[in-house]
Parts: sequence; structure tokens; C-alpha cells
Amino acid sequence: MISQDLHHFRPLLKSCENPTHLNQIHAQILKQFPNLQYPPIFQYNVLIRGLAAGKSPVKALSLYRSLLQTQTRPNNFTFPFLLKACSSSSSLVPSGLSLHAHIVRTGLDSDPYIQSSLIHMYAAVAKDVKSAQKVFDLCSVHQTVCWNSMLDGLVKCGEIELARLVFDRMGCRDIVSWNTMINGYSLVGDLKLAREVFDKMPCKNLVSWNSILGGYNKCGDVEGALRVFREMPHRDVVSWNTMLACYAQSGNCDEAFELFDEMQHSGVKPTDATVVSMISVCAHLGALERGEWVHKFIKENKIELNTILATTLVDMYAKCGEISRAYQIFYAIVDKDFLAWNAIIAGVAVYGQAREALRLLDEMRESGSVADDMTFAAVLSACSHAGMVKEGKYLLDCMKVTYGVEPKVEHYGCVIDLLARKGLLDEAVLLMESMPMEPNAPVWGALLGGCRIHGNSGVADDVGRRLLSLQPKHSGRYVLLSNIYASINRWEDASKIRSMMTNKGISKIPGTSMIELKGILHKFVAGDQSHPESKKIYQKFIEVSERLKVEVGYSPDTKQVLLDIEEEEKGHILSVHSEKLAISFGLLHTGLGATIRIIKNLRVCRDCHHLMKLISKVYDREIVMRDRNRFHLFKDGACSCMDYW
Ligand code: ZN
Ligand code: ZN
Repeated sequence: MISQDLHHFRPLLKSCENPTHLNQIHAQILKQFPNLQYPPIFQYNVLIRGLAAGKSPVKALSLYRSLLQTQTRPNNFTFPFLLKACSSSSSLVPSGLSLHAHIVRTGLDSDPYIQSSLIHMYAAVAKDVKSAQKVFDLCSVHQTVCWNSMLDGLVKCGEIELARLVFDRMGCRDIVSWNTMINGYSLVGDLKLAREVFDKMPCKNLVSWNSILGGYNKCGDVEGALRVFREMPHRDVVSWNTMLACYAQSGNCDEAFELFDEMQHSGVKPTDATVVSMISVCAHLGALERGEWVHKFIKENKIELNTILATTLVDMYAKCGEISRAYQIFYAIVDKDFLAWNAIIAGVAVYGQAREALRLLDEMRESGSVADDMTFAAVLSACSHAGMVKEGKYLLDCMKVTYGVEPKVEHYGCVIDLLARKGLLDEAVLLMESMPMEPNAPVWGALLGGCRIHGNSGVADDVGRRLLSLQPKHSGRYVLLSNIYASINRWEDASKIRSMMTNKGISKIPGTSMIELKGILHKFVAGDQSHPESKKIYQKFIEVSERLKVEVGYSPDTKQVLLDIEEEEKGHILSVHSEKLAISFGLLHTGLGATIRIIKNLRVCRDCHHLMKLISKVYDREIVMRDRNRFHLFKDGACSCMDYW
């Protein structure tokens, strides 16, 4: 009668994939346990196995404890499941250690499956290669499973060369061994060796293909990845997600969306990893409409909004200039980890909202999340964008003592930038000299930037020289220095720097501006005539300039145009900066009162910044512009950066 009861649970347990369901069955069985004096170990094993694979593997261990209260003894099948549970998180490793002692006492420590599970736990989870090696050495016969666990453990510990030694020593390699080796090389970004092993493999399965695809993704080789992806005889959701991640990392938005379409047509169901990639590609490009579309897709397809996915959404909305929606999602996250906090803090930082960033930092601390490097880099850069000297200096001083985060060169860089922007160049130099590490190029760059704003050519000469020797190929540095000389009428020096640049064959990074219209991204470069509506766009630009001239007395900053001293390249003197083309296009295609959003890859120049302010007033439009450094919200003739960028 009793065994009949359990018999009734068996098929249920076997088919059970849903952890809630499993918990229900577990509860029911436990309720009956008092009546079951000697439940057979088989039933326990099935249940332990289910729990180990479920959402809270720790329950497998508590069941094991109740098993020990009975007269049933664990067998060689019980322990691999339990060790699997202990390997689900490094916090359960201590339980694994005491389990190891039980195993030795039961005399089951020579079972190859138990040995292999132990090796896996020690090496792959506890990152304790030595203990893994000890178990491995005790194996009487080295079975392939044990070799594979050792191999996998070494790979997970980043010991790729040791892993290769193990791989080469293996007498009998199975497909898992080969795949582990490919995956190992892929993880460390050694595509050449990964490919070599892949090509040598006697027969490949889906995991092999996915591993090599992962290698191409890791190295950012989009074309190589696509070749592999197309060659694959079969694809699963991992293959699709890897290819999408590859596009997301390289910012190939159109390709990502095409592939996403293809994925759905091929009947593969998108997962949270899929939409994380889709959201990040939108964030990277500032493509709000597409981002919103993906967000809707997530809701409609009931994809679980876990912390990682929600954080990606926070980042996307912040980067697309929708900070209030970023907040909504952020505050709805139940388990906010430090990454979620960093996303919202970095989000407000690029708006220059330093007080808000500081407030969030306090809130983060109160919530028990621990701030890291990135948190402070974001808060300090917010202080820098807001010109908050006192707060910035204070934070740099107290971050180690109060928050336990050692200031790095980028943190000093933020405060040096802050001081330099404020014209406190001497203090900036002093701080730089007191740094415990060598200043890097961004630190020198921050000083030079301060010289530009405050026309200090004495410091600029010295700083500029150092910077050009540190980064002789960085076009922006030459541009900035010649810009400084020009602004204080040292024309000869300005043109000397320009010709230095030409002689070294350094060309400027082309400035591009993007604007999204009905989900399509339109990209413009300076003087661009390639857009199908090019003619209309230029006409609109002339019309806008005329109207601004008449109504608010706008005249272009010809000094900058003639000297070509801004960051953005111009084909010829009269050509037009990319954001001017983008805004003209935006005015042509959006209705009255609609917000226009522009994403720019370089720092916006003074003339374009001025023009945007005037357009916002005369055309009564809000313009949100993200440049390389921060957001500008133009409204009623003013900018949120208060001309401080
Ligand atoms: Zn410009
Ligand atoms: Zn601005």
C-alpha cells in the first residue's frame, strides 16, 4: 500500500520540469513520510535528482538529511545528484565538503561518477585545482568522465595550458573532451587554437559548433561568426543568441533585427538572453523606438523580467534620453544588485544630475548593495559635468575609507577633469602629481580640455606635448591643441599642429549623427549627400538658418569653420556638420511639438550647440542630443548642460 503511494508519484516526478510543481509533490511526499518507514532509496534518488536540478537545489540537501534519519542508506546514484546540488552555487561548496567526508565513510569514493562529480565541484565551482587534482590522483582507473571533469575544471579556472596537457594525456577522448577544449580556447579568446581543435575533431555536435561560434563572438569577429553560423548543420537557441550577442557588441543594429526576425520565423523561441542583446544594441545606438518595440515584445511574450534583463532596460531607457522610464523600471526591480544601481547612477550621470547621483549613492548604500569602481566613476563624472568641486573632491577622499573602494586612475581623472573645467588648473596639476600612479592619457586630456576652456596656453604647451607623445595617433588630441592655440590667436602654432597631423597621415574620426524615424535609423556624416532626400535636407537647413538669422540674429561661428579646428571633419569649408543635417531631417519629418532625438559620436561643437538652442526656441521643440560625453536637453533656447560640456 505504501509503495503503491510512492509508485503514484514516480511518473509525476519523472515528468516534472516545473520547480513549483516539484515543490508541491515534495510537500505531498513528505506529508506521507511518517507513514513510510522504509522508503526505497530509488524514490529518494528520483526526488533528490529533481530538487538538485530545480530552483532551490539546497532542498536536495535537506532531503538528504531527512534520509539519514531513516534506515535507508544512500547509494552510488545519490551522491552525484547531491554534489550537483552543491555545485549549483559556490555558497553550497561547504556542504559539498562534508558530503565528501560522508562519501569516504560509505566507501563509495572509488565510484567514477562520484569522483567525477567531486572533481567538478572542486575545480569548476570552488576553483580549487589542488583538491580536484587530489581526487583525480586517487582514481584507480581514470575513466573518461573523470578526465573530462578535470579538463572542464581547469578551463573554468582559466588554466588553459594545464587543460591542454590533460587533454593531450587523455587516452580516450569523447566528444565532451573535444568540446571542453574548444570552449576553453574560445573563452580565453584564442581563436586560432580553438579553430585548430575544432577542425581536428573526428565528429562534431551542436555543442562543438556553438563553442567555436562563441570563440568568434568573444574575439568580436562578426564576419567569422556569421560564416560559422551559416555553416552550422543545426542551430539551437544558444546559436541564435550567440550570433545576436555578436551583432549587439559590434552595434550592428539592422543585422541584429533581421536575424531576430529570422530566428522567430525558424520557430526558435527567444529567451531572456535574446532580448538582452536586442535591448543592448538599441541602447548603444540610442534607438528608442526599436528599444520600446523590444520591450513590448518582452511583455507580450511573457519573457521573465529578471534582474539582468531589467538592468539592460534601465540602461537602454537612460541612454535613449528617457530617464523617467529608466527610473520606473529600476524601482520595480525586486533584487537590485550593484549592476542595477550602476546602470541608474550612470544614467543620471550623463545628464549631469550630480545631486541625484549622490542621492542614489546614499540610497544604494542603505539598501546594502556594495558600490564598486564603476559606481564611483559614474558619480564622479556626474560631479564633473555639474562643476561640483567640493563634492567631487570629498568623494575621492572618502571612497576608500567609507566605501572600501580604492581610487583608480580613472577616478583621479574625473576629479582632475572637474578641477580643470572649473579653471582650477594649478590644483588639477597638484592632484595629478600626488596620484599614487602614473597619469594616463585621459588624465592629460582632461588637463588639456581645461586649458581649452580657460585659455591657459602656458600649461597647454607642456600638457599637449606629453599627450601627443603618449597618443601620437589620436586625432582628437591634435585637434584640441590646435583649437587652444587658435582660441588665443596663436595662429602659427595652430596651423603647425594641423600640418603635423597631416604629415603623420592622421585623419579625424568622421563625425556621425543618427536620428531614428519610425524605427529606421538615419545616419549622417558631415557634408553628407548620400541620403535619398539629401536635396530637401539641405534646403531645409538653409531655410532654418535664414529664419534663425531673421528672428534671433543667428550667425554661424565662421572662425571655427575657417580654421577647421573642431573635432568633426568637414569635406570642404561650406560643408555642414552631421547634427545639422540630422536636425533638418528631423524637422522635415516630425510633427509640430514632437521631441527630436539625435545621437552623435563626437563631442558637439560650439556652433552646433548654439544652433540647437535657438531651434528649440524658435521652432518650439525639445531636442535630446547624446554626444560622446553626455546628454543635452535643449528646450526654450537653453540647454540642460548649462553650456558646460
Ligand atoms: Zn558642429
Ligand atoms: Zn548642452
